[in-house]
Amino acid sequence: MPEKTPNSCESCGVAPRPFDSVLYGSSDGGPSRLLCGRCFNLEAARRGGLVDFEHIDFEPLTMSDAHGREHVFQFRTHLFAAGVTIDAIEFNEDQSEGYCFKVIGDEEGDLFELLARLVTKMRRGLANSHLEEGRHGLQIGDPGIVRARIESDPEGETDMPVVVIDGRNISWNEFGRMVATYTGFQFKLEMHDLSDEI
Ligand SMILES: [Zn+2]
Repeated sequence: MPEKTPNSCESCGVAPRPFDSVLYGSSDGGPSRLLCGRCFNLEAARRGGLVDFEHIDFEPLTMSDAHGREHVFQFRTHLFAAGVTIDAIEFNEDQSEGYCFKVIGDEEGDLFELLARLVTKMRRGLANSHLEEGRHGLQIGDPGIVRARIESDPEGETDMPVVVIDGRNISWNEFGRMVATYTGFQFKLEMHDLSDEI
């Protein structure tokens, strides 16, 4: 029997990576269990009768952005009702999330193929650069296009979100300042799932 600590997986006893644990509710209404990503996927596959599903823990990967800056990505594989996702997540020094990429595939498909699709998407995403250093701090670069992710601000005193652009956390106020240089312009705001490529 593996030794248990309060935050260890209740199936294998290993402490899950903080971003890769699941509170798994039991179907009979009993208490939910903390599971690592691997044990959750194996349990979900067993319940779903997915005999061909194989969980793979992918090693972290370092990739460079358009400016040659390196970004380290951790991978998380997650089985859900409609398929399997792989997330690539960059953690900044303060543990906030920088770049994040996601792909969705068939639950019994080849996970390495799905990973390859993700890496291609990451490469294209990292090649896009939206911010540049201006006279008054960061500004939106030419051609005036921003791709961003909306995140909550754990340190914020209000419920304003932060936006993550080029892997950087930008406060709502800071984003407002950057947009203010376009006063008089119009813009179109569209929301897309993280698994979409925009
Ligand atoms: Zn486990």
